[in-house]
Amino acid sequence: MPRNWIEAKVITIIDESPTVKRFILHVESEEIFTFTPGQFVTFDLPVGDKRLDRWRSYSIASTPSEDNMFELCIVLLDDGKGSGYFFTEVFVGTILKFKGPDGSFVLPQETEPLYVLVCTGTGVAPFRSMIKHAYEHGLPYRFHLIFGCRTKEDILYFEEFQKISEEQPLTLRYDVVLSRETSDAFYHGYVHQVYEKAYTSENSTVVFFLCGWSKMIDEARNNLIETMGFRESQVLFELYG
Ligand SMILES: Cc1cc2nc3c(=O)[nH]c(=O)nc-3n(C[C@H](O)[C@H](O)[C@H](O)COP(=O)(O)OP(=O)(O)OC[C@H]3O[C@@H](n4cnc5c(N)ncnc54)[C@H](O)[C@@H]3O)c2cc1C
Repeated sequence: MPRNWIEAKVITIIDESPTVKRFILHVESEEIFTFTPGQFVTFDLPVGDKRLDRWRSYSIASTPSEDNMFELCIVLLDDGKGSGYFFTEVFVGTILKFKGPDGSFVLPQETEPLYVLVCTGTGVAPFRSMIKHAYEHGLPYRFHLIFGCRTKEDILYFEEFQKISEEQPLTLRYDVVLSRETSDAFYHGYVHQVYEKAYTSENSTVVFFLCGWSKMIDEARNNLIETMGFRESQVLFELYG
């Protein structure tokens, strides 16, 4: 894994929801940039003087390819310096400095367990990479994606996940939970109700992957391990902040 800073040029920016943009970048180097689905990269952004003030990590939302492109899915936080920089200072053609890939929150080799992927908002990014990778390569994984957000317009990558789950229902079971809107098509409330109803700790081959902000992760870990009795080794997580 290269530890030096690498340059990437922004090629495309897509408005995915009112508060989330997708950034597609091209790595400007001769070497092929590769990663494992689930990993993240860290940018040095001109938003502070000290090293740690400037660094922001983002999960890679796309799949490994040989074209040196990768995608990020970033939410604009209120008063967020890093996300604010991406939303106001980054344009097609902007060159950004990053390092990576890093992280061990990756799609395991083992295809036997059922992987229950629980996320809110842009926490879906590593799961999009994992699911799309398995789908594109016809790998025999089984996923249950439980995605939480506020309203229908906040749902990320909806058509893609819908298509995969319709074409290959054994590969992907897809549930969306809206916290601030009711709809016949989706659950209403929070992500926890879905896995609480679907699984018990007798399902010894279930592995949970949790991704997002601390409130959801803390609640889910507590529910799964303390209340429902799953082993710690069955509950993996990536904390955004
Ligand atoms: C491994 C890893 C992967 C990540 N991947 C992604 C990703 O794919 N997409 C993505 O959007 N982000 C991701 N993040 C989060 C990202 O690194 C930044 O933390 C995020 O963009 C906020 O940075 P900021 O500079 O905008 O906010 P900062 O300036 O650092 O924070 C200030 C503001 O953020 C808000 N804030 C701080 N913590 C929280 C919280 N827990 N919940 C809600 N608001 C909060 C506060 O309201 C505050 O006003 C990832 C983080 C890690 C560690």
